[in-house]
Amino acid sequence: MKIGVVSADVASESRVALTPDAVKKLRKLGFEVVIQSGAGQAAYYADELYQAAGADIANSSAEVIIQSQVITTVNALSAEATDDLSSGQIVIGMLDPYRNTQLDTYAAKGATAFAMELLPRTLSRAQNMDVLSSQANLAGYKAVLLAANEYSRPFPMFMTSAGTVKPAKVVILGVGVAGLQAIATAKRLGAVVEASDLRPAAKEQVESLGGKWLDVPMSEDEAQKAKATGGYAWTPSEQYIKDQAAVVDKALSNADIVITTAQIPGRQAPRLVHQATLTKMKAGSVLIDMAAGTGGNVEGSVPNETITTDNGVRIVGAANIPSMLAAQSSDLYANNLVNFITTLIAPANDDASASDASPNLPLTLALNVDMEDEIQGALAVTHDSQVRLGKR
Ligand code: NAD
Repeated sequence: MKIGVVSADVASESRVALTPDAVKKLRKLGFEVVIQSGAGQAAYYADELYQAAGADIANSSAEVIIQSQVITTVNALSAEATDDLSSGQIVIGMLDPYRNTQLDTYAAKGATAFAMELLPRTLSRAQNMDVLSSQANLAGYKAVLLAANEYSRPFPMFMTSAGTVKPAKVVILGVGVAGLQAIATAKRLGAVVEASDLRPAAKEQVESLGGKWLDVPMSEDEAQKAKATGGYAWTPSEQYIKDQAAVVDKALSNADIVITTAQIPGRQAPRLVHQATLTKMKAGSVLIDMAAGTGGNVEGSVPNETITTDNGVRIVGAANIPSMLAAQSSDLYANNLVNFITTLIAPANDDASASDASPNLPLTLALNVDMEDEIQGALAVTHDSQVRLGKR
């Protein structure tokens, strides 16, 4: 049974789906692996390292796809690669399910496509497959470094011969995995941090990291709704959005650095920073919009561009921060994929004899694709020639 790795289709992506270490783990499980030549290069994994780990090298994505039962990828496959799929193949990656226009083709080809973003995150057995968390953790850290780099003053307080330098004031909007890591990183650099989220549960987490909670008033009804969503973002009322805008406006008028992380899977990111607030911000202040790729939390942010407003505020449209830490984010992503692939292996038949080399493994490796399994059922966006998105 062969697992393939195709190169990312977009130039802005430096990550690779499997690392040489992941290849070794899969080889141990009994899989063969084939990787598209150069797929790991931008993450500092040369073809030779894959060969040393036991993988074959193929010259094109088409060559990888034709040989593989399972195809792993970082992002959605290109239209050409999707066209090369055949019945029964499995595709695993961050397939951007809600914006992916190729799902009909995956289904028409008879492929089972698993979109890792759809993982049921509260399931404890799914936690080691959580690509959103592993990537957001690194992104939250790097967002602070990007901000520090753009900012023309230091983060920590300094006592100098010429006077005292005040610490930077950092505001984090959206305190999920990325936001929490951003708070921790900004605190480590000596900044003063404030943060807000529409999940009241985030308050305690912010405070435990030494940040100050920016409170947005919430009606009894909304407090109930927040509880009922089991810790995930809920759709705020107009009144909440108005109150939040006022809190954000006040906090940002004094801020040096703002990092926004608020995203809602499958939907446009909420607009949290409006033009009226931007005009009140200090010259030289920096906003990192981590939701720039899904509509932007900051009015006027442009994915993969840094713009400077008339009043000297710099807005960084950070669409793919994990790619900037490609070596580490590939390691973690590949581990998440290996953990998922491991759960696909069918249990050995009682009468299947164990291999001599690996006594615990069956001689023939089979995969058990099962839509009744709560993880597989949640991740599968195409199966049995059907698009399943929305049927969960
Ligand atoms: P995310 O990337 O989807 O969003 C980032 C943050 O933005 C979230 O905290 C969200 O509440 C917030 N947000 C969204 N809309 C907002 C708005 N209009 N105003 C203010 N804030 C807004 O978040 P994430 O990092 O994927 O985490 C989402 C949730 O999932 C969190 O509760 C997190 O703790 C939880 N989670 C649970 C597990 C687990 O149980 N194993 C694993 C990972 C994450």
